[in-house]
Amino acid sequence: MNTDNQYNPIELSKEYLKKSTLDNQVSIEQGFNVELYEVSNNLAFIKNFGNIAVFKNDTTGLLIDTGMGVSSLQVVEKLKEWGISNIEYVIYTHGHVDHVTGTEYISDAFEGTTKVIAHENVTKRFDRYKKTIGYNGIINQRQFGLPSPVFPNDFTYPDITYSDEYELEFNESILTLTHGKGETDDATYIYSNKDNALFTGDFFIWSLPNAGNPSKAQRYVGFWGEVLKKMSKYNPEYLFPGHGPLIKGKKTIKEMLLDTSNCLLWIEENVLNLMNKGYSLREIHSELDLPEEYYKPYLVSAYDDFSFLINSVWRQYGGWYSGTPSELKPPKLEDIGRTYIDMAGNDDNLLKFLESLVNSQKYKEASVIVDAAYSVNSELFSDIKKEIYLKLAGQETSLMAKGIYKFNHDS
Ligand SMILES: [Zn+2]
Repeated sequence: MNTDNQYNPIELSKEYLKKSTLDNQVSIEQGFNVELYEVSNNLAFIKNFGNIAVFKNDTTGLLIDTGMGVSSLQVVEKLKEWGISNIEYVIYTHGHVDHVTGTEYISDAFEGTTKVIAHENVTKRFDRYKKTIGYNGIINQRQFGLPSPVFPNDFTYPDITYSDEYELEFNESILTLTHGKGETDDATYIYSNKDNALFTGDFFIWSLPNAGNPSKAQRYVGFWGEVLKKMSKYNPEYLFPGHGPLIKGKKTIKEMLLDTSNCLLWIEENVLNLMNKGYSLREIHSELDLPEEYYKPYLVSAYDDFSFLINSVWRQYGGWYSGTPSELKPPKLEDIGRTYIDMAGNDDNLLKFLESLVNSQKYKEASVIVDAAYSVNSELFSDIKKEIYLKLAGQETSLMAKGIYKFNHDS
């Protein structure tokens, strides 16, 4: 099996599990290096930015996700090499662009027609995306450090949608599609009984769940935890994650699913507990640290950030008011800037004060002041602003925090 290439995602996942920390698994470079790993004669894992799984029945294929359009040419080559001549079905795990934008190119490259199956909210997501192309382009530019805003303006909509559960028979395997809310409200996870394999989509991505993204629509920390618990009951032998390498072994998989579930449920429970006691958002941030039992290689704040998940729970249950009155209707940034300059005496004194904060590594404090000062005198405060944010980026582990701090300061 799989003698023609060296790529072995199962071995890779074993290596990852031995590490105490893990680099971000969601690097954009993954999209440029597609690999196919044969799990059995009828099932393969395709590594991509946004992984793909493929079932084969003679020469007919069924895909779970289609990855990014940018890597579709390579995906088609791998599928043809593996003996696929037509794609009967595509199942979307959710509607994010890194999982669905390969559909058109891939289905056009094969004979016959392809039916796309997805949760009914995928359709609503694509409609929503059309209203926010500019905004989403900027988010992607910031999050992934791209040279310019990038977001597609067209999507391959599903032909078949479902609401709670959907069953499909393919090559004597029953595929059970179940809806769950987590990263999105349109997510599907799939279980194949014949292969005892679970296809999680982004419910599992080899890092702390992406449940707190600062720039995206509401995500669901607690529901996500519940979904992972439900998934673990299948006791699967294989776990095909949305990102990062394929995992094999019932015991390992159960442990990973339940650790992640418990971590998410811990976060939601503790944030709600403090909200119910009247804590402000800032007070909750100072109060909560992730317990050591969740220091696992697959729960590192590599993509999303623990602190952002706190905000996500707060927003889901409590709205956007932070509980700190000055943040309800804040003054113009320029007015705050002028106040800081007045306090310091003049612009140059404030600059000296900011330099002293930088020297004592008080970058967060400095960032509050420099945002305001820069809006009054962008020329004078430009260099120090850049320095402060690049220092902050250097201290962060998550791709999202780094992306935001580096944005416009990366040259
Ligand atoms: Zn994804």
